[in-house]
Amino acid sequence: MTNISEIAQLGAKVLRLQAQAVTDSRSAEIQRIIETMQDTLSTTQGVGIAAPQISISKRIIIIASRPTPRYPSAPLMEPTVMINPAFQTLSDTREKDWEGCLSIPGIRALVPRYIEILINYTNQQGILVEARLEGFVARIFQHEFDHLEGKVYLDRVEDNRDIFAESEYLKM
Ligand code: ZN
Repeated sequence: MTNISEIAQLGAKVLRLQAQAVTDSRSAEIQRIIETMQDTLSTTQGVGIAAPQISISKRIIIIASRPTPRYPSAPLMEPTVMINPAFQTLSDTREKDWEGCLSIPGIRALVPRYIEILINYTNQQGILVEARLEGFVARIFQHEFDHLEGKVYLDRVEDNRDIFAESEYLKM
């Protein structure tokens, strides 16, 4: 059985809250939330989702980079559930690249992100995992992490001219 949620849209209060840390990563409640996030993400062309996007203000994200019509050059990876994620930068270098968001349909923008980060998170088995991310996957992580802080990618845009209607973006 699948459990698909609506995606919270920009303007919804839940997208502007600081999400709560998960204290019981192996509980049935958390497993159910994760399943809903997975099922919901799989109905979209998104490459990641954060719990606030299904209106649950908890620190859970899924990173699922894969080539889609939305992101044709995205690297393929096993979808990864990250509970209470954290990161530090490994270099000050940031790069601008295009992002979109399921909570902000019809818009794309150039967003500066750190290109190399060290992350840690608790996995679904309750084990602490550390990893080094770079490039597009590091970008997805920072985008989803922002959702846990009540931020959206448009907050990071440096120049309003870096914001495009998706129809114009697709013409490029
Ligand atoms: Zn988003």
